[in-house]
Amino acid sequence: MSTLPAAAADTQSQSQPQFGPSNPFYAPSTLPYQAPPFDKITDDDYLPAMEAGMAEEQKEMQAIADNPAPPTFENTIVAMEKTGRLLRRVQSAFFTVVSANTNPTLQKVRATEAPKFAAHRDSILLNEKLFQRVSTIYNERKSLNLDPESLRLVEYTYDQFVHAGAKLSEADKTELKKLNEELATLSNTFSTKLLAATKEGAYVTTDKAALAGLSEPQLNAAAEAAKGRKVEGYVLPLQNTTQQPDLVSLTNRSTRETIFGNSWNRAEKGDANDTRDTIAKMAQLRAQKGKLLGYPNFAAWKIEDQMAKTPEAALKFMDALVPAATAKAASEEADIQAVIDQQKGGFKAQPWDWDFYAEQVRKAKYDLDEEQVKPYFELNNVLENGVFYAANQLYGITFKERHDLPVYDKTMRTFEVFNADGSHLALFYCDYFKRDNKQGGAWMNSMVEQSKLLATKPVVINVANFAPPAPGEPALITSDDVRTMFHEFGHALHGMFANSEYPSLSGTNTARDFVEFPSQFNEHWASYPSVFQHYAKHYKTGAPMPAELVEKIRKAQTFNKGYDTTELLAAAELDMKWHTLAASAPQQNPDTFEKQALEETKLWISYVPPRYRSSYFSHIWASGYSAGYYAYLWTQMLDDDAYQWFVEHGGLTRANGDRFREMVLSRGNTEDLEQLYEAWRGKKPSVEPMLKYRGLETTGGK
Ligand SMILES: [Zn+2]
Repeated sequence: MSTLPAAAADTQSQSQPQFGPSNPFYAPSTLPYQAPPFDKITDDDYLPAMEAGMAEEQKEMQAIADNPAPPTFENTIVAMEKTGRLLRRVQSAFFTVVSANTNPTLQKVRATEAPKFAAHRDSILLNEKLFQRVSTIYNERKSLNLDPESLRLVEYTYDQFVHAGAKLSEADKTELKKLNEELATLSNTFSTKLLAATKEGAYVTTDKAALAGLSEPQLNAAAEAAKGRKVEGYVLPLQNTTQQPDLVSLTNRSTRETIFGNSWNRAEKGDANDTRDTIAKMAQLRAQKGKLLGYPNFAAWKIEDQMAKTPEAALKFMDALVPAATAKAASEEADIQAVIDQQKGGFKAQPWDWDFYAEQVRKAKYDLDEEQVKPYFELNNVLENGVFYAANQLYGITFKERHDLPVYDKTMRTFEVFNADGSHLALFYCDYFKRDNKQGGAWMNSMVEQSKLLATKPVVINVANFAPPAPGEPALITSDDVRTMFHEFGHALHGMFANSEYPSLSGTNTARDFVEFPSQFNEHWASYPSVFQHYAKHYKTGAPMPAELVEKIRKAQTFNKGYDTTELLAAAELDMKWHTLAASAPQQNPDTFEKQALEETKLWISYVPPRYRSSYFSHIWASGYSAGYYAYLWTQMLDDDAYQWFVEHGGLTRANGDRFREMVLSRGNTEDLEQLYEAWRGKKPSVEPMLKYRGLETTGGK
């Protein structure tokens, strides 16, 4: 039976209840698919369950390390795969709610536990006896007659140990553990500050005129948001990106400038929520960590196990995109400036003008109005007749809504997913609407990971921040939101189609520069004609979108891609610059560093700010994308190249879908990803389809 570790029991004995059978995490969930029992879980259940879960896994791992029998694949590598069930159970539920439905209690738990998780992981990966057993099996692996997935697991496990510092001296290991704990604490500090800064950064006004240009439903939503915060007037909450969605419609230039300033400076106000010191310290500690592990910088260490394998490969790929992307952005800016001049604006286009005038350029060039389009994108219809429909056509899977399973927020929906032959596949939740207690952005999370060894089927969730409808009104979403739904569902498919023996290699447990490939690939189906026709129907009349509007959308698809690609490149280059700092570099001033980094990469462009500024770049300081943001562009190359294969082989067919599922989506990390991709594609990925589909091809010459 598990008990609290002594140290934790000492410090928390007054406030923490004992961990026992009354805790909902004590035993595996008895709900279908072992879904988390959200109706039984209280905020106080997480901490004792996590403490007990770490203690239990510690004991299990130590038992493997102390096993007197000589190491075998079964008694060491497979045994390790079976450990930590309790911890995984509580962590997956905890990280779901602390991201999507948080409160001060949960945040406090995260703050307490973050350094402990880091230390816990270190204690396993830096366990000398355990590493000796893993090494022995690794050295003998070629003579063990293992199947390919088992062989991959041996190599993966060994690499994990080495990557974490298992070969370091005892003194260096101690130093590394200290660095990891400090970094985990700082990362948590960053998240807590940023959540508060983002909330604080909302635009609040009682002056309706300042909001001219917003539609009636948008105004209602802003009034609702104000009510939710118990303030007068209207509130426009900040999204986590630099650009803010309302800037496209607000006609009042000074409102736009204020909102943009709120976004850009959200975490740089010199108050308690200023993150600059935190991130500068993190960059410095990460550089020290890279050096300690024997690498020239943090990025070289971090990317080693990715598809790109070195920072140089990632940088070379990005640098090659800069001229095409910035040239396209410059031509887009010229179009925007022309509109401003034509209207005798008398100013040069600034970042807060971009979306507003880009929308006018789009209307003029393509005669397309986002407000005209939205009535055809009612959220539930897009989900069931678009996202689900495409997956049905490609993979034969079907969906049945379930109302009997507990959720943590009443706006969530739950679906059971079935294979074409009717067999049970997975459980899928969605939580789409913005709330103040939800982290910004959109993501997928695995609540239960598929594994044949553990006899588990996947439970996944998609979370987003779409504007909630005013009471009684339907949720009409933008074309960006539609794309986000397909994107996150692509991650969900990657999780749900997992068909691995071992949990460590299952589903989305792949390299960062691969994991965004299935999701971005799935975006292509949003605009695929037979799918689009099936969901793009007027929410009142059910009438299909008129052909000419569809044609306009098709033509407008490469619109603004210069800006989109450039803002991503700027963020990705920033990330790489922060993480290729040498360990000897002093602590940086983030603003100076940022400007210099962007100038060096020819991405300091007044009208295209990076998609995230360093001070609110949550991906790299708190979400595991450090030295990994390039992955979004890298995987764009993969996804367009993959879609090109479909185009060349008859498009959306069950045969094509099944082949993709079998050779890519079901494989998780069970094979070398480069080889896996090439086996399916028949060749190495190339950047040409990416340039073509994003309208970035240089005209003339070729
Ligand atoms: Zn994604």
